[in-house]
Amino acid sequence: MAGISLTPTMMSANAVSEDKFLSENGKLILKNVRLETGFEYEEDEVVSTKTDLFLVEIENGKISKIAPNNPKAKAVDAKGFLMLPAFRDMHIHLDKTFYGDKWQAVRKRKGGVKGMIALEEQIMPEILKNSTFKAEKMIELLQSKGTAFARSHVNIETTSKLDSLKNLQKALDHKKKSFGAEIVAFPQHGVFYKNSVPYLKEAAQMNIDFIGGVDPFSIDGAIEKTIDFTVQLALDHQKGIDIHLHETGESGLKTVEYLIDKVNENPLLKGKTFLSHCFVLGKLDKTKQEEIAEKLGNAQVGIVSTIPFGNLIMPLPTLQKHGVTVYTGNDSIVDHWNTFGTGSVLEKANLYAQLYGQSTEFLLSRSLRMATANLLPLDDKGIQQWPKIGDDADLVLLNASCSAEAVSRISNVESLIYKGNVVF
Ligand SMILES: [Zn+2]
Repeated sequence: MAGISLTPTMMSANAVSEDKFLSENGKLILKNVRLETGFEYEEDEVVSTKTDLFLVEIENGKISKIAPNNPKAKAVDAKGFLMLPAFRDMHIHLDKTFYGDKWQAVRKRKGGVKGMIALEEQIMPEILKNSTFKAEKMIELLQSKGTAFARSHVNIETTSKLDSLKNLQKALDHKKKSFGAEIVAFPQHGVFYKNSVPYLKEAAQMNIDFIGGVDPFSIDGAIEKTIDFTVQLALDHQKGIDIHLHETGESGLKTVEYLIDKVNENPLLKGKTFLSHCFVLGKLDKTKQEEIAEKLGNAQVGIVSTIPFGNLIMPLPTLQKHGVTVYTGNDSIVDHWNTFGTGSVLEKANLYAQLYGQSTEFLLSRSLRMATANLLPLDDKGIQQWPKIGDDADLVLLNASCSAEAVSRISNVESLIYKGNVVF
């Protein structure tokens, strides 16, 4: 089972060697590939998902041909495993982790996020000593869970300066044939609380994708000043925005509304702006939730949620109903914030399905979107929309009969292909 595959080296026994199946032009052919083809209905209810076996050809990192199966073809045997879009972890911190090092539980929290900032000022120099190595180990963990892409936040603050970013960029460069990423320059210690401004400005010119942030009111003591700076930096460098917002209450809501206003004033930021966590949405009454969800949807501001449970249930279905882009990610795997990350976003999709009662064949199949950043093989009517010729060959093979089973059973990941390269 996947749960015991802690390190990719343990998977080498069943790894597929692609070399002998690649022709001179770098073509990879897979046979006995299971793809979803439609829904089976009884009266109005989807009762099962139809699949069939296919022959899939990949060339130059793209899907170049999808043909009826030929069991006798000279090709890699996908053994009837279900092919799905490779998974995407849309919120993780690859740059600061204990993964690959010795076990350490989380310490008792003192002084909220500011207490954690003080702790980080002590421990970041130690973490940075081998953070490239640990990021690579963590990428291998994600790959073993079917993930081929991550949006990683990376600390930009006065202790790490730009070193955490540089170390992560080294790791991503080493892994670039097997793993894709986008980077959020993350002022974990505040934009102004600890003066990260010069480092953020420098980071914005270093091949990053998003300007990050954290709790503008409770850390920096100012919503407008911090958001204005973030928005301007993003606009100046054509970047997106992804802000951690843990704070609830009036300041949390004000931050959400102010950011929505700024995005509406600067439509270039539509579709490129996200709030991570955004716990305040879980604390609003139903009417207010609907109102804010509609505003987020109209401004195309997305929400990235780790799908918390316990006292806080995020209104993710309400957000989705209003067309808000909702993503998930592991956030922490094992670090000084949290040690419960498994690395699996399929498990997050399972948690989503359980929390929000998505238990029928149809709703389970829709829940897969949490693992794939919203890409689904079948549309809501059961029409096949993935894969298509020309799609990136970012694929995962699972030991499952359909998406619904994969989500419900957290089915084992058998193989991962990134841009046509067999990762394992
Ligand atoms: Zn985070």
